[in-house]
Amino acid sequence: RHYSKESINKVIGDIVPLIQTKAVMNNVSIKTSLCEEIPEISMNKEHMKQVFLNLFNNAIEAMPQGGELIVITTYQDNDIKIEIIDTGCGILPENIKKLFNPFFTTKEEGTGLGLSICKRIIENHKGSISVDSNPGKGSTFTIHLPVLI
Ligand code: ADP
Ligand code: MG
Repeated sequence: RHYSKESINKVIGDIVPLIQTKAVMNNVSIKTSLCEEIPEISMNKEHMKQVFLNLFNNAIEAMPQGGELIVITTYQDNDIKIEIIDTGCGILPENIKKLFNPFFTTKEEGTGLGLSICKRIIENHKGSISVDSNPGKGSTFTIHLPVLI
């Protein structure tokens, strides 16, 4: 129940317009490069939308001075890879391991729940999420989702 065959590119395409206003207000330009060959996968679409909404909001919030949000999807060997790249503040090495913990936040009014929810949703889909960051230069969140056959 709540699971249906959906396109990950379409989920991303549904969410980008929702954050465009916030992006424009923050001088953030959004670029997407979406692989056309990705098969549909069984997913909870509303939950998956929440993942990208959280990640895109975080990316924009990391770029108060403006920058680029780049979303790339690729597909190889029954593995969908989604990279969410920003040119923002980056993440300190000592914070990387706490990032997905519930209530970890560095924001004045943050809940610290976004990334823990993202991780739970992705793991519910048998996938993984990880982060790589260059403090002062930006961050990349990488999601892998299996195409179960
Ligand atoms: P919140 O956004 O409410 O703080 P999240 O769970 O979404 O909670 O994120 C936790 C923390 O991870 C943020 O407070 C921030 O320090 C860091 N973070 C998340 N995404 C990024 C990003 N793209 N760039 C820099 N820091 C990030
Ligand atoms: Mg957040």
